[in-house]
Amino acid sequence: MNETLLWKILQSELVAGGNGIVRAWYFGNPMSIHLQPRRTIDELKQLRGLTGDEAGAQRVAFTETWAKAREWYRTLLAELPVEVHTDEAGNLWATLKGESPQALIMGGHIDSVPNGGWLDGCLNVLAGLEVMRRFHAEYDGKPPLTIRVVDWADEEGARFGKSLFGSSACSGNLDLDEARGLKDRDGVSLPDAIAVHGIAFENVKTSGKELEHAAAYLELHIEQGPVLLDLDLALGAVLGTFGVERHAITFHGQAAHSGSTPMNRRRDAFLAAAKMSQEIYQIAARSGQGVCTIGSCITKPGIVTSVVEECRITLDQRHLDAAALAGMLDEAKAASKRFAMEGNVQVTWERIWQIAPRPFDPELIALCDDAIRETCGISHLLPSGPLHDAAEMAAAGIPTVMMFVQSLHGISHNRIEDTKEEHLAQAVIAFDRLAEKTMQWVRISHLGF
Ligand SMILES: [Zn+2]
Repeated sequence: MNETLLWKILQSELVAGGNGIVRAWYFGNPMSIHLQPRRTIDELKQLRGLTGDEAGAQRVAFTETWAKAREWYRTLLAELPVEVHTDEAGNLWATLKGESPQALIMGGHIDSVPNGGWLDGCLNVLAGLEVMRRFHAEYDGKPPLTIRVVDWADEEGARFGKSLFGSSACSGNLDLDEARGLKDRDGVSLPDAIAVHGIAFENVKTSGKELEHAAAYLELHIEQGPVLLDLDLALGAVLGTFGVERHAITFHGQAAHSGSTPMNRRRDAFLAAAKMSQEIYQIAARSGQGVCTIGSCITKPGIVTSVVEECRITLDQRHLDAAALAGMLDEAKAASKRFAMEGNVQVTWERIWQIAPRPFDPELIALCDDAIRETCGISHLLPSGPLHDAAEMAAAGIPTVMMFVQSLHGISHNRIEDTKEEHLAQAVIAFDRLAEKTMQWVRISHLGF
């Protein structure tokens, strides 16, 4: 936090009266007496026991186990005087009314992939609940801002292949025509599957009204990668989610007998495609923080005795900066043409999917960085490779930031996903500090009190 902002907050607390002393005390101390990070860890374990098996978490959205997880979560919410409802897209909202209707939203997802990890998504549903309990206790049931915790429906898209269902319906970005036609492995359509859980497909975007008073959105998540692990850090502030360019690249050569065709006479589509494999590592390195992946390669005729006539590879490129992402794409296109020319083959490109980078709010990133530093002594800024519900909130124009906690093994979407308990506790404490700072930030920058 910059000093001016801190000073403004302290000044506003002095004006606010007696409670300001408590607030100033809170800013200078490790954590509020009302916050119990241990409770969050215990609840995460309870949820794991209730909805996981030896293969991992089984809370796939719109299944009975998912509904059971939510039912359990509702019993926890029932201990607080909060309003609880499900919106038109199946997102579960808990609201602690504050003095202002302007809302600080904390979001996560209780759904998991099949055989998933025990922390992905549900960490913030439960950390958010703990922070909400703290706000309730510390402000005698009425914090200055309204505090909301949302459990987004079907973040993972494990069943229908469409991630961020609930949050994209809420942000207005969901493509209804595309989603309407999605089917699971058994041929059940998405509209039919959600109808079982009381959700009317054609109305899902009405859920956007939930964001009417949204002043800020915060999300704590397990990193799902090895960056914090390799740096030996517990927590990091997230700069935004990567933009993605996903393309199919097809090289067209000529099939020819593997025995009778001299090497200098070949028009080998695979040779040109294979050169791309090395090139993308250099493109990624030149881009700074970008990543590139060739995830698939199909050759035709695909037999051992023929030079490859046609080779189709897929290229996935990601970067936090839109111009850098566009630059990576241009470089890959230029390289593919060069390799095609060198090998006397043709190349064609086809876009499969694309999404713009979603940078988070610079001031909230700074507050997040401060909250981590105050909790752990050291922080780190990093982008997010995976998409998260937070990306939808940022796209909806809500000031947004995420906090990452270290993944042991640097792995997620796997039953071995794990985080040290000491890091989970630090995550809850730092996230609570971020929530408090954000509330003060909203008061000063938006509400002027
Ligand atoms: Zn997740």
